[in-house]
Amino acid sequence: MEIKLQNIRKRFGETVALDDLSLEFCDGKLTTLLGPSGCGKSTLLNLISGILPPTSGSIYFGDRDVTSLSPDKRNIGLVFQNYALYPHMTVGENIAFPLEIKKVSKKERLERAAEFAKLLRIEDYFNRKPSQLSGGQQQRVAIARALAKEPEILLLDEPLSNLDARLRLEMREEIRRLQLETGITTIFVTHDQEEALSISDHILLLKKGRIQQYGLPQELYDEP
Ligand code: ADP
Ligand code: ADP
Repeated sequence: MEIKLQNIRKRFGETVALDDLSLEFCDGKLTTLLGPSGCGKSTLLNLISGILPPTSGSIYFGDRDVTSLSPDKRNIGLVFQNYALYPHMTVGENIAFPLEIKKVSKKERLERAAEFAKLLRIEDYFNRKPSQLSGGQQQRVAIARALAKEPEILLLDEPLSNLDARLRLEMREEIRRLQLETGITTIFVTHDQEEALSISDHILLLKKGRIQQYGLPQELYDEP
């Protein structure tokens, strides 16, 4: 599902976090939002997920104007830096939980949780609690949970930041594998240029709430 931004502005009081962005995120591609802290990456992701409303402008998913829709009406999978798993639930219950809200039957919930645990290679930990898993494994659970409800769009907000260097590389490849396998339109947020270059179909470079560059990884260059 392509995502279209039309003249998007977001202010917080005097601060202009996003300044008149117009852009299309391509269907089925992985686009990375890259830029230093404070450039507007989280704000843009929060507008696309519907957690925050824009000050002005419109957001479309395909032909559908979603600008005033709440997050639960947008059919999006979200993964955060801190995993945000439910600590009292098992891995399987965590993955199945969004399906419960969507009123999927118990039998199908379990089947789908098992299927996505397998896809993320965490089926051996299905009955464990998140606290019994490593950071990388917890992030796999969060990704499985986001994908299990079969969203049209996957938003990943610095999903690798809390992992050590080895796991960061491993999970980077894992995310790319899943994205290519499922063909889901994905936006990946990072401030790490090397990470962006290695994982993306397209890179959107933000600077102070404006688009500095948008294009293929090989077109990205360092500004002096
Ligand atoms: P990034 O994710 O790239 O670090 P953010 O989107 O978090 O950037 O922030 C963009 C700008 O908007 C920054 O100047 C930040 O201080 C400001 N900002 C973000 N959220 C809020 C908020 N809730 N209230 C006030 N200012 C905010
Ligand atoms: P990031 O990891 O993207 O840099 P931040 O630490 O900038 O995230 O922001 C974390 C949260 O705090 C975000 O939800 C953002 O909207 C909010 N925030 C960022 N800057 C401000 C600010 N100046 N005032 C209030 N809230 C802010």
